Formats: sequence, structure tokens, C-alpha cells
Amino acid sequence: MRQLIQSLGTLATVLIVTSFSVLCSVALTLTLCFFEQCEAPKIAIATAIAIPSFVAPLVTWPLVGLVMQIDSLEKEMRVMATYDQLTGLLTRQAIFDQIEQVMHLAEREQSHISVLAVDLDRFKDINDTHGHAGGDEVLKSFAITVKAILRKSDYFGRIGGEEFIIFLPNTPEEAALALSERLHQAIRGSVVAYEQSSIRYSASIGLVSVLPSADVSLEEILKQADQLLYLAKRQGRDCTVSYNG
Ligand code: GH3
Ligand code: MG
Ligand code: MG
Repeated sequence: MRQLIQSLGTLATVLIVTSFSVLCSVALTLTLCFFEQCEAPKIAIATAIAIPSFVAPLVTWPLVGLVMQIDSLEKEMRVMATYDQLTGLLTRQAIFDQIEQVMHLAEREQSHISVLAVDLDRFKDINDTHGHAGGDEVLKSFAITVKAILRKSDYFGRIGGEEFIIFLPNTPEEAALALSERLHQAIRGSVVAYEQSSIRYSASIGLVSVLPSADVSLEEILKQADQLLYLAKRQGRDCTVSYNG
């Protein structure tokens, strides 16, 4: 019903509802007169047309407006739940939902998948030196840099402050490691211009490549990737630590 109203638009919906109300009102008047076995007086017909012609638009117009408003709010909320406002990347919930589905497909097709847990290095220092707004610029620039390297079929989401997930369908460890190295190079080479400063930054990555099966849950893969990321931090940051399951 809401879709029909949406596609018709406010004016057309109000006109249709009003016409229908007038028709019903006239039909009701004529039916009553038929049962009373009298001829419908002109005044009765005129009233049957006039009243719904005034009342129906008065009631329908605000109601249709409300339906339209609910619809656009719902769309806005869906966008907010799916995309991170700062970077435009998938939100935590959105990327996990999407990965879950692709994992099932990969399991059926018996194709490898790779998951990269990415965390920007010493981000607190960037915030401390350049302010929160400077840090935000780095996050935005990072998203653009990485997107330019990924394929359209890859998934990229922000799961926390400066923590990200990259999911590569149909990608075994070797190819994922090569991509990870390209990411490090691009990030190292990127300079974020903010106010009078040029901000440089790096990222650490935990990489897990697996052949999906019913025994391995997405939760476990993500936990593993997070542990490898922790190892990458301990190894001095700006590097990838991987595991092939
Ligand atoms: P490490 O190399 O070990 O990851 O060090 P780190 O400083 O990056 O790690 P930590 O997790 O301690 O710091 C992350 C910081 O990111 C702290 C938090 O204030 C900041 N942060 C979280 N979300 C945002 C954001 O949306 N914008 C900005 N500018 N900073 C954020
Ligand atoms: Mg960090
Ligand atoms: Mg962190």
C-alpha cells in the first residue's frame, strides 16, 4: 500500500481517494432512495458529492504526507545503519551481515576467502598532534586510498574508531598477501593535507585465509584475524601477519 502511494505521489493519491469517496457517497444515496422507493432529490445528490469532495482531501492530504515522511525517514535510517557517516564505508553490522551471506556461497562453491583486520597505527598520537578533526581527515583519506585498490566485489567496513575489516571473496592467501602489501605501500605513500600539516600514517593487518566450512564460524575467523593483528602490532606495526587455515 505504502509503495503504491509512493509511486502515485501525494496529489494523485488524494484525487483518487476523493473520487472514490464521492462515488461511494453517491452510490449510497441512490441505494437508500431505491430502497425507500423514492426519487433521489437533487439536493441529496449534491450533498453526496459536496461533502466527500471537501472532507476526503482534508483528511487524506495530511495522512499521505505522513506516509511519505515515514517512508523517507525509513530510507534515511536504512542508509545510516548501512553506511558509516564519516567514511561512507559499511558499518560493523552491515559488513558482518553481508560477509555472512557471501561465506555461505563460498562454502557451496568451495572457494577460498580472506579476511583482513586492519587497525591504523598510533592513531592516538595523530589525534593528539593534529586534533580530532585531523584524525578524521586521516580516516576519510584511508577509506579512499583502500577503496581505490580493492575490487568492486570486495567488502570494506569500519567496525570501530580506527579499526576496519576487508573481506575478499574468492581469494586465497597468496593473492590476499599481495593485496595486503599493496595496501601497505599505498598507505605509506599517502600524505593527508590538514591545515598547515602533512599527516603520514601506517596500518597493521591481521590476515586469515580459509576455505569456508560449517566447522568454521565467521566469529572465529574474525577473532583469529584480530589476534594476528595484535601480533602485527607487536612485530613493530606497519606490517601484515597472516594465517592460512
Ligand atoms: P595502536 O598502534 O596500538 O593501534 O595505537 P592507537 O593509538 O592507534 O590505538 P588506540 O586504540 O589506543 O587508539 C585509537 C584512538 O582512535 C583512540 C580514539 O580516541 C581514536 N578514535 C576513535 N574513533 C575516532 C574517530 O572517529 N575520529 C578520530 N579522530 N579519532 C577516533
Ligand atoms: Mg590503532
Ligand atoms: Mg584500535
